[in-house]
Amino acid sequence: MNNHKQLNISHHLKKWYTINKRSLPWRDTNNPYKIWISEIILQQTRVTQGLEYYLRFIKRFPTVNILAQASETDVLKEWQGLGYYSRARNLHATAKKIVSFYDSKIPDNYNDIISLKGIGDYTAAAILSIAYNKPYAVVDGNVYRVLSRLFAIDTPVDSSLGKKEFKEIAYNLLDEINPGTHNQALMEFGALHCTPFQPLCKSCPLQDICISKELNKQFDFPVKQKKSKVRSRYFNYFNVNYNGYSFFNKRIGKDIWKNMYEFPLIETDEEVDLTQLFEADSFKTLFANANVAFILKQTQVKHILTHQHIYTNFYEVEATKLNEYFVSNFLKIEIDEIHTLPMPRLIHRYLEYK
Ligand code: SF4
Repeated sequence: MNNHKQLNISHHLKKWYTINKRSLPWRDTNNPYKIWISEIILQQTRVTQGLEYYLRFIKRFPTVNILAQASETDVLKEWQGLGYYSRARNLHATAKKIVSFYDSKIPDNYNDIISLKGIGDYTAAAILSIAYNKPYAVVDGNVYRVLSRLFAIDTPVDSSLGKKEFKEIAYNLLDEINPGTHNQALMEFGALHCTPFQPLCKSCPLQDICISKELNKQFDFPVKQKKSKVRSRYFNYFNVNYNGYSFFNKRIGKDIWKNMYEFPLIETDEEVDLTQLFEADSFKTLFANANVAFILKQTQVKHILTHQHIYTNFYEVEATKLNEYFVSNFLKIEIDEIHTLPMPRLIHRYLEYK
């Protein structure tokens, strides 16, 4: 790519951006803490939903010190409903590290910032370019789409070869004088103009140099490798009411929703009804010698995660007696207080609509 073409693309993008960019609070600041929070929230999240969370999060934790001092439960609670909860756990761990090791200042160099939990190449480049005006190029889903269409590149964007190739192109295009504006312009252009299903080619400032448009193959790009298989899971949750108390389990271990709270759960390999559950050993462990009545409240609630579909039956359980195992293995909490626990959206929705 010659230098002229490179400058032209960046120039057109920035010009487009000046006119068309959305007014968003993290665009009115170069505060690295706020840029960092916005970038983490916006991963895997639409801007409209992310905006609401960003404003709440910044209000609750306005500085890295305040975030570091908060409990993980409080941070997860603010994150509730946004999904990908490891993002919140990593934010919290990283805030603590920034306070103890970097004098409460978000590092302004690549080696330090990339060493922090939850900050990968994309986030590092975004913070360094937007907050510190350093010449790092960002490559996210929008950038992959725009670049693959502009240059009709069919290397799969989710392959290691593709990642390397697109990164090189992004660096070739980068405006090193205004890297932050350039990066934001490119991402915003992908989000609003060169969109997945309705690219606005007729009014595109890059239409004269866009190879996929010339070939009329815009929708052939970007190319992705085959999708990974989706796993189906079957959850049976028990919302136990015992004298005005409910019971929760804190999820631990390497699975979804780590450190979030859920009702006592029996996971099965397939959809089962209550009669089948009665036979399961796990059910007997939970409810042997107890005095309980079950009502199936919601059935086959489908919750979609990136690589998992979770089908859930919710049971309401009225208990007048519980066994020793149950009482000692779950968190007993007054029903009026359960809103203070961070919980997955699946459970939160159930509580809202039951
Ligand atoms: S011409 Fe169409 S496909 Fe090419 S960059 Fe513009 S909007 Fe995207």
